[in-house]
Amino acid sequence: MTTAEGIVLRERPVGEQDKFIDILTKEQGVIELSVRGARKINGKSGSSAQLFAYSRFCMDQRGDRLYLNSAEPIHIFYGLRNSLTRLSLASYFAEVVGFCIRPGTDSGDILRLLLNTLYYLENESRSEKFLKSVFEFRLMSETGFMPDILACQGCGAFEPEEVFFFIDSGGFCCADCFDRNCGKKYMQVKLPVLRAVRHIVLSDLNKLFNFRVSETVQLSLTALSEEYILSHLERSFRTLEFYKDLFR
Ligand SMILES: [Zn+2]
Repeated sequence: MTTAEGIVLRERPVGEQDKFIDILTKEQGVIELSVRGARKINGKSGSSAQLFAYSRFCMDQRGDRLYLNSAEPIHIFYGLRNSLTRLSLASYFAEVVGFCIRPGTDSGDILRLLLNTLYYLENESRSEKFLKSVFEFRLMSETGFMPDILACQGCGAFEPEEVFFFIDSGGFCCADCFDRNCGKKYMQVKLPVLRAVRHIVLSDLNKLFNFRVSETVQLSLTALSEEYILSHLERSFRTLEFYKDLFR
């Protein structure tokens, strides 16, 4: 029997009584667990194997499959269920993580990022837009797509007022160096947006959420972070479309 702490990203019912759950763990990345008699287990140990439950899981390996033996809740994120938009945004975070993280990968920082983001989402101390941008840029950075945002690619300017951010390379140019005919996909943003991106990708995880942006900056940041993640993952997400439909 092995144990792991993890958060449930997805659950799929199998028949009347059973289900599969995908959990993000610190040491083993995303793993799939078979839960036999899900109703009984839910009755016994609360919601510890339900969506967004962060729990300590005991599991048995039989053949190439892992079976849940028992689960003990650490934090359940009940508060997310009070708001459809927050619950939907959390579902998007979970779907992206499930897509990005393979089994067997060390995922301690990703787990911390997800738990911290859900914590702020649950207690409503940061806006949804803010959390979405922070999560998108930081997840990309943690999974090998860190944007190269130190200086202008042409002249090395560190803080130009106008920033032409290249989506594919993650680098940027100032207004003097930018060539409109370069044929690259770009987004034009102001310096405060660049500063926000720098903070998100470079700061220590425990200081990640300790900054604020104006509404104007957030508007650009929202467009930029979403474009960046979808371009690099080369797909969209059903949960993201659902979330955005809530505001249409
Ligand atoms: Zn320049």
